[in-house]
Amino acid sequence: MLFADEESLYTTISSAPVGICILNADTLVAELVNDKFIAVAGKSSEAIIGNFYWDIFPEARGRYEDAMQGVVKNGEPFHANEVERAIERNGSKQKIYINLVYSPIKNKDGRVIKLAIWALEKTEDVIERKKEEASKLNFQQERDGLKSVFMQALAGICILQGPQLIYEMVNPAYQEILPGRNLAGRSIFEALPELVGTPVQTALLSVYKTGETFKMNEMLIPVAEYEGGPTRERYFNFSFQARRDHDGNIDGIVNFVFDVTELIKAQHKLREATEQADRQKRIYETITAGTPDLMYVWDLDYKFTYVNHALLKMWGKTWEQAIGRGFRDHGYEEWHATMHERETDRIVATKQPLRGEVAFPHAEFGKRIYDYILIPVLNEHGEVEAIAGTTRDVTERKIMEDELAKSSEELQAINEEMVATNEEQAASNEELLAANNQLALVNKELLDARKKIEESEVALRLAIEAADSGTYSINIRTMEFYASPRLKELYGFKSDEEPSLQALINQIREEYRQMANDMVEAAIIRGKRFDLTFPVTGFHDGKQRWLRSIGTYQQAGENSEAYFAGITNDVTEQKEDEQRKNDFIGMVSHELKTPLTSLTAIVQVANTKLKNSEDPFLAGAMGKANQQVKRMATMINGFLNVSRLESAKLLIDKKEFDLHDLVEEVVKEIAFTASTHTIKYNLCDHIMINADADKIGSVLTNLISNAIKYSPKGKDVEIKCGIENNKAVVSVTDEGIGLSPEDQAKVFDRYFRVESNNTRHISGFGIGLYLSAEIIRRHDGEIGVKSESGHGSTFYFSLPLV
Ligand code: ADP
Repeated sequence: MLFADEESLYTTISSAPVGICILNADTLVAELVNDKFIAVAGKSSEAIIGNFYWDIFPEARGRYEDAMQGVVKNGEPFHANEVERAIERNGSKQKIYINLVYSPIKNKDGRVIKLAIWALEKTEDVIERKKEEASKLNFQQERDGLKSVFMQALAGICILQGPQLIYEMVNPAYQEILPGRNLAGRSIFEALPELVGTPVQTALLSVYKTGETFKMNEMLIPVAEYEGGPTRERYFNFSFQARRDHDGNIDGIVNFVFDVTELIKAQHKLREATEQADRQKRIYETITAGTPDLMYVWDLDYKFTYVNHALLKMWGKTWEQAIGRGFRDHGYEEWHATMHERETDRIVATKQPLRGEVAFPHAEFGKRIYDYILIPVLNEHGEVEAIAGTTRDVTERKIMEDELAKSSEELQAINEEMVATNEEQAASNEELLAANNQLALVNKELLDARKKIEESEVALRLAIEAADSGTYSINIRTMEFYASPRLKELYGFKSDEEPSLQALINQIREEYRQMANDMVEAAIIRGKRFDLTFPVTGFHDGKQRWLRSIGTYQQAGENSEAYFAGITNDVTEQKEDEQRKNDFIGMVSHELKTPLTSLTAIVQVANTKLKNSEDPFLAGAMGKANQQVKRMATMINGFLNVSRLESAKLLIDKKEFDLHDLVEEVVKEIAFTASTHTIKYNLCDHIMINADADKIGSVLTNLISNAIKYSPKGKDVEIKCGIENNKAVVSVTDEGIGLSPEDQAKVFDRYFRVESNNTRHISGFGIGLYLSAEIIRRHDGEIGVKSESGHGSTFYFSLPLV
């Protein structure tokens, strides 16, 4: 650096943007200094200029003296960055940071004659950076602190790090939820592959992307507890919260999770139990509401806690007016009230039921006689907690008994009188004789009637015995259950055991048990006929049997007890026979298929070749042979399908398609071959359904073929298709022989065919409609027929829309 004069050097230095101090290289005495240097030196210019450098800054001598000497000696500059200095500035002590350069100034010969010291203040930068570092440290410490809190938390907590969502931390409670899973260090989707493609995955990705917290309660998530183990349905409450780094960017997800499976299961159990209890209550209410007997419960304070409909009616009161009141409130006379109170005390003491008879006036019918039974209701400690009772009006019976007694007395009197007058009035002898004869006659009739009843009872018993049937009955009022010895044997119990109704039901194979329960309930409550064939496992012998049980609601007269009673037979052999028959049909049809397939191929080729043959017989015969072979294939396929259906191997392969296309295709194909009838078809709408197109096609083919088969030549067959009540509906209408109401009920049964002069010459096996109905049923659709004998039929089916 060369300057023209000292003046211009001075000007340059004092206006420089950095602090500069020029030293003599030999003496290290300061010769020149600018304001910026003075500011970082914290000394006046007088205290600097003309002084030995290390006298000015004695505190720096130890550290930098060698460096400065090196610069003078070697002519290479020396840098020191962020040198910390404590100076006085604006009257207060202050710490500043400077970047220093000792740079040599050489003369023409290359000798270092001066030293320039450059000083640039960096205080602000350094402070800013230190703050930044401290806050980063703080942030990390907070993170670590939070993690250690997480590790002790009772909730399952994990931290998923980075866009790959790698398990960075898993607390013990979280690991306990998935005891056998390897989590730490793996991506959540690799560690728990069962989450891929579920809403949980979607939620995680979206939280990472948007930073919005996601919370969910009682979500069903099937997960495996052990690596590769079976998944189990479990319920979780959980939240995903975005974690942000020091700069506020999302760098992970904090996941809180509670396993609430047990809770949910308990809730479900509770709900089931409540439903069960409700159902029981309904049964009892139905029973108690229907009986003419009075039923009631009172507590140990002699206050009513339950009264049935009949008793309310007798009192002429509502439930609210009746409950919580005592005997006297309900108009019981004093003697009557005290009597029941004494009886109550006695039952409390003895825990034994008691029975009595009482007469008192009824609101409507005057004086009545009642027979009552009081029973102790015990709590879980076996103490009496209330009294339950039933009261029956026995006035009628009493009157009859009295009258009987009276009339026998009268008879006695008359007899005596007659004996007395006999002698006197021999003439009336004949009359008496006649009367006697009459009596004898009546008596004989009575005997006959009785014998007949006995005979029919014997016949019934014989029939039951011959059929080897078990019999049972349930008293609907008391729910008392009677089972004949044979019935018990059918369920694998010993004939001298007394299994409860529930014990028998428990032997029914699980898949049928609920159905049996529901049907018994319907039979008891609604008087529905019970008819069910079901498998049981013998209680002692463990034998598998098929039983058919039939039962009905029975009540001899309005005032007599109602029963649910019936018989049960062992139908294992029939079932097995049926199975063998099905297996046989399946096997035969399967075996027939192979030769038939080659026959079909051969006939088809022959048909194409001979279609234009000169010989008119050959030309026609092959066409007909082709048709017959096709018919045979349809039949054999039908049987194969029945046997598949029965062994549950009929597969339904659903795909979405337009019903319009299928209907059109089927109709076209049939119209092409059916020359005897006019096929009418109104264009179908475009309707998307999810179904097995081949199977639905075969249903429609079957309905149209039947319409042609069972109607005279020249008639119309009309096919319609559209949407009704939010369902796709297809119908086939013919003008044929029609069906009686009884036959309509059976046409969908297996092997059912109408037997009449009209149908005898038409061939078939009665499986087409059976198969069709099963196919539609497996699509959650409905199939049906509307018809009138002699006036044609409409067969239709409906399917759910997509
Ligand atoms: P198949 O026609 O082979 O006997 P299906 O199961 O198709 O077997 O039909 C069962 C029976 O229902 C037939 O035998 C016939 O008596 C009666 N049936 C079916 N379709 C009609 C129809 N469109 N009109 C009158 N009767 C019919």
